[in-house]
Amino acid sequence: MEYSEVRETDPAVADALEGEVRRQQDTLAMIASENHVSEAVLEAQGSALTNKYAEGYPGKRYYAGCEFADDVEELAIERATELWGAEHVNVQPHSGTQANMAVYLATLEPGDKILSLELEHGGHLSHGHPANFTGQLFEVEQYDVDTETGYIDYEALAEQADEFDPDIIVSGYSAYPREVEWERIQAVADAVDAYHLADIAHITGLVAAGVHDSPVGVADFVTGSTHKTIRAGRGGIVMCGEEHAGDIDAAVFPGGQGGPLMHNIAGKAVGFGEALDPAFDEYAQQVVDNAEALAESFADNGLEVVSGGTDTHLVLVDLRESHPDTSGGDAEEALAEAGIVLNANTVPGETRSPFDPSGIRAGTPALTTRGFDEAALREVGDLIYRVVDNVGDESVIAEVRERVGELTDAHPLYE
Ligand SMILES: *Cc1c(COP(=O)(O)O)cnc(C)c1O
Repeated sequence: MEYSEVRETDPAVADALEGEVRRQQDTLAMIASENHVSEAVLEAQGSALTNKYAEGYPGKRYYAGCEFADDVEELAIERATELWGAEHVNVQPHSGTQANMAVYLATLEPGDKILSLELEHGGHLSHGHPANFTGQLFEVEQYDVDTETGYIDYEALAEQADEFDPDIIVSGYSAYPREVEWERIQAVADAVDAYHLADIAHITGLVAAGVHDSPVGVADFVTGSTHKTIRAGRGGIVMCGEEHAGDIDAAVFPGGQGGPLMHNIAGKAVGFGEALDPAFDEYAQQVVDNAEALAESFADNGLEVVSGGTDTHLVLVDLRESHPDTSGGDAEEALAEAGIVLNANTVPGETRSPFDPSGIRAGTPALTTRGFDEAALREVGDLIYRVVDNVGDESVIAEVRERVGELTDAHPLYE
């Protein structure tokens, strides 16, 4: 992939763009929230729609000249409706965080109460962290996963909700390897007369493919990202029942955003179209099968897999028992040197600093896009183990780096 126009006018940026393509080609992307979009999605995102102001919604714009912007947004909405089955879809949020912001704006007043999962237990900044606007504008209380099992403790959540009396309960997580029982959380929300926001940012694609249970039609609001397990380019999406449609649309624009990123919405339309192909359902199933193979490989090597396995696209490893002297950060750094890019992550019952936590999180969406199967993931699991078990041993890292090079060469990304 070449950037000939940029190369001619701006070699410094061209170096960075081409360097990034090479980096993605030559490394294993195992950050659980990352994927590789198709060249068609890249092209749509790089289109002239980036020039167009289209404040408003299809057919009700504040600017002239929106006929093609309307076409693209209508296609994105139609396809999203087919993928997730919601009564109402808004495809304009610039990111998952913006999608969540729209739901809070539509449902809460400053000072209202949010009940959400602790960040260290797999929650997200936009669910009420003090460094995020949610933690600053709202009163937040957080629930935990059971530190023994790694699963959400639905009964404890119900008790906590009863005491705290939240206005909204947030489900859906960043580092939770198990299926979420949406109905149980909905029942908790109903019992305390709270809204329920199911944030499926990580599993948007798995839900679209029917590989993970869907909260659409169960939770009051469902938000997602369009760049993690679905390959529609960077962005967010909000879904809700017809009764909340007007409030959500007003909360996205003009409530929290200005002009929509029409070029990104074009990318969403193309990526959603790709996901409607039955091949995407097979892809999503393979993502989960690959994560299971990776979890097995870790467990066979004696690593502690949080919750004992996975139902999703990600595996969380707690290094404290097997490698008490190796932090998640040490592992992340050594693995990056070996060409395996994943992230250090907190684990349930975290005892280290969130800046250098005790675990690593590994996801399979990007490798699955490149055609890796279970056998390949088992091997990748062994490679990760070798590095984690030999942090600081440059010869082991070099050997793994070489094998990673063979694997990435065998699975070309962008020609
Ligand atoms: C990734 C993620 C988001 C969206 O993040 P952005 O970077 O704002 O797109 C939202 N919620 C959860 C739970 C996530 O994991």
